Amino acid sequence: VTELARTPETFRTEARESLADPQLLDAYASATQRLYDNRLAGWAELPDAEAMRTRAHEIRMRVIDDLDRNLDEYEAALGRNGVHVKRARDAAEASAYVVDLCRRSGARLVAKSKSMASEEIGLNDALEAAGLRAVETDLGEYILQLRGGHPQHIVAPAIGLTADDVSELFTRAEGTPVSAELPDLAASARRQLREIFLTADVGVTGANFGVVETGSICLVTNEGNAGLVTALPRIHVALVGMERLVSTLDDLAVLLQLLARSGTGQKLTTYTRLLSGPRREGDQDGPEEMHVVILDNGRSNLRRGRYREMLACIRCGACLNVCPVYRKSGGGAYGPVYSGPMGAVLVPLVVGLERAQALPHASSLCGACTDACPVKIPLHELLLDLRRDLVDEGIAPAWERLAFTAWSWAWSSPFRYRASTALARLGQPLGARFGPGRAWASGRALPRLAGRRFRDRR
Ligand code: SF4
Repeated sequence: VTELARTPETFRTEARESLADPQLLDAYASATQRLYDNRLAGWAELPDAEAMRTRAHEIRMRVIDDLDRNLDEYEAALGRNGVHVKRARDAAEASAYVVDLCRRSGARLVAKSKSMASEEIGLNDALEAAGLRAVETDLGEYILQLRGGHPQHIVAPAIGLTADDVSELFTRAEGTPVSAELPDLAASARRQLREIFLTADVGVTGANFGVVETGSICLVTNEGNAGLVTALPRIHVALVGMERLVSTLDDLAVLLQLLARSGTGQKLTTYTRLLSGPRREGDQDGPEEMHVVILDNGRSNLRRGRYREMLACIRCGACLNVCPVYRKSGGGAYGPVYSGPMGAVLVPLVVGLERAQALPHASSLCGACTDACPVKIPLHELLLDLRRDLVDEGIAPAWERLAFTAWSWAWSSPFRYRASTALARLGQPLGARFGPGRAWASGRALPRLAGRRFRDRR
């Protein structure tokens, strides 16, 4: 899990770099705005969107509240379908399983479909260290692999890059000029990836959901690459986060409607695949072997207590597109995998607060993420709770702990409250120039604190 850790310094440095790059800011602004508008249009078509969100929340929490039983049943159902199952406690165990499987089967080339779980466990590095070639086949992920970088958004990994950037990368990869016109870029990607699909020995995917009643994995994509990665190679390995289960196909149908609408505004993604085992007699394609790796990697830490609602996340990306901090700081600031409000909550819980203490502060607490979340995760409240934990556990800097203690003391008596607000009004101009809020105030006009007469009128 250390891959995900983030020091306050790295967050600030990466965010500053993003803020100083007008092209990146433009790319983030236009892409997130487009996804945001599409989501609103998609949701407007639902007759009772609020009731569906409530239902989706119940569906997810029902599974999470009884996760042990659901995992046992899922494992049994997969076994009945002829799927090999591995429960991996951490990234090292999950990667070792995939590497060992590749070695035992004499594989050399691994074709990958987009999987945040595989990013999380650093699978590409593990495969390459073992002398295997791993190639991403999702277009955004492939572009990032050519360029050398991590996903910037959980739905649109190469969100910060322009068509010109991609044309440059493809020109270098093909050794012949590729224009920045979209049909030319698509044709170039097809040329480069077709050979990979046809010659890969192992296909690796994630799973959007695992269906307990049928022992299936569900994959949703818009590019069709997951179909080729799961149908052509001899072996298919799916990495499934332990919390990504749904009990029934009926529950899956509800979540699928919300996932696509929240991510891209589509009614459904172009391809929705349910895979329930390796190739059977009479099948025209499919792998000879199918393996499912069920990944814990810190998720168990969240299962009890108030943070367990975070396990309901269906990785739609809607909270990123509405977040004023993510839209400016960029995905890189949050770390290599999970970004935006969902990352700011999830990463500290998985790696430990002391290893990602900047992330709970990467929020204005405006609540837009909570309103956008299709499974009703109270993201901004969880961020506030994490900030409280930072103080309670003594992880927050001494000045911050002192400030909150002083604030609590001052505001617990009417006299001290009035005296402190009068002092704050007097000191406000100095505070904006020299105090801890100076970085915030350098790009904004700090509103004047309300005077006594104004408060009395209210
Ligand atoms: S937290 Fe909610 S809005 Fe954000 S990615 Fe997860 S499901 Fe989507």
